[in-house]
Amino acid sequence: MSRQSDGVRAVRRGKVWLVGSGPGDPELLTVRAHRIITSARVVAYDELVSTEILALAPAGAERIAVGRRASGCRHHEARIHPLVVQRALEGEDVVRIKGGDPLVFGRGGEEADELAVARIPFAIVPGISAALGAAASTGIPLTHRDCASSVTLATAHAARNGGEPDLIGSVPARGTIVFYMGLGRIAATCRALVEAGRAPATPAAVVSHATRPGERLVTGTLADIAARAEAAELEAPALLVVGEVVARRVESPCAPGREAADEERAEVG
Ligand code: SAH
Repeated sequence: MSRQSDGVRAVRRGKVWLVGSGPGDPELLTVRAHRIITSARVVAYDELVSTEILALAPAGAERIAVGRRASGCRHHEARIHPLVVQRALEGEDVVRIKGGDPLVFGRGGEEADELAVARIPFAIVPGISAALGAAASTGIPLTHRDCASSVTLATAHAARNGGEPDLIGSVPARGTIVFYMGLGRIAATCRALVEAGRAPATPAAVVSHATRPGERLVTGTLADIAARAEAAELEAPALLVVGEVVARRVESPCAPGREAADEERAEVG
């Protein structure tokens, strides 16, 4: 508390941490994210944050569900939750945990903007974005010296409220593209890519629940990946990966005697 010149006591403002928590596996948290989450007094989270990661917050911490599916939550999606702002104005530090990286389709920029306007200090902690987690766990390289010198992170949702109108027109003609948020739009996205000049035989994959216990991978081409993904009844969250790199997927050989040793190490660790 500090005394202002007009005699009114000003409450010290809390700080809001916008923390990327990676694609779900708690071991993919950064050391910094882990430290901040395990010492939090107030955490705000949405449905992309895995239960294992949320469980790392102290038992006594206040938990604020801010996702679209959170019951009774009617605030505008693009804005930071009013309770987060309120707690910060009351002097509490708030840890807003985000899936993946806060600045990759995570609205971290918009939330930071709003905090700045409210004169609430904030810090952004990066996380492993879903595309990177999915690439590592499935063995699909995102770039490859032979066939992909660029990787584009794109959204299959056209931005609302006057955002970018023509997604497909803005993705490059070559290289890898990873589409976020597109499970229901795979067919339309693939059609649009073919219309934009990509060959129907271009390899494609859908990875759902990447790095989580229920991870699933379906591979195919632009011509058939939508039907294959539908037949497999994949669930969100999922990514669509398009490009020759999908055909360069490498699977680790399972050497005799390794599995037991690996399990043991996991238990010890
Ligand atoms: N900031 C996040 C992305 C948020 S947008 C990040 O950097 O990863 C939400 C979309 O991310 C989902 O619709 C899905 O396309 C993708 N996503 C997030 N976690 C995922 C996971 N574990 N497996 C597959 N896709 C995931």
